[in-house]
Amino acid sequence: MRETDENGKEKIRYLCAENRFRDSDKFHKFTNNATFFMTEANAKKEGIDLKLIEMLLAFSHFTYQESNGYLMIVDLQGVINCNEDGSNNLILTDPSIHSKNLLRFGKTNFGEKGMKNFFDEHRCNYFCKLLGFAFDNAK
Ligand SMILES: [Zn+2]
Repeated sequence: MRETDENGKEKIRYLCAENRFRDSDKFHKFTNNATFFMTEANAKKEGIDLKLIEMLLAFSHFTYQESNGYLMIVDLQGVINCNEDGSNNLILTDPSIHSKNLLRFGKTNFGEKGMKNFFDEHRCNYFCKLLGFAFDNAK
């Protein structure tokens, strides 16, 4: 949105918005910006396929790989919508981004320490292997 201040100087203000979730949508926290990720037991309890959690963790790893370690998208949360044809849509919202540049992406950016925390807990899975960046970090 463009505005003109009291001195006649033009300034731009930004607004980020998204559609409201439906009231029937159940909100899920899949990962956070620290070391939390939904466990197999919790996924089962919430009726979520564990493969989805693995895919989301691989997505965070992918963002790190693709940016050459500059950033990582974490704090993955949102809703799973069931379509009329029986397929599902995953709608994610409000992610956090860890970046080497601590001046970007707000106060949930834990920088390289946040990325290290992720990798301390992350075990590469089927999707990391499929995407070709898995490393052997089994405990
Ligand atoms: Zn991985």
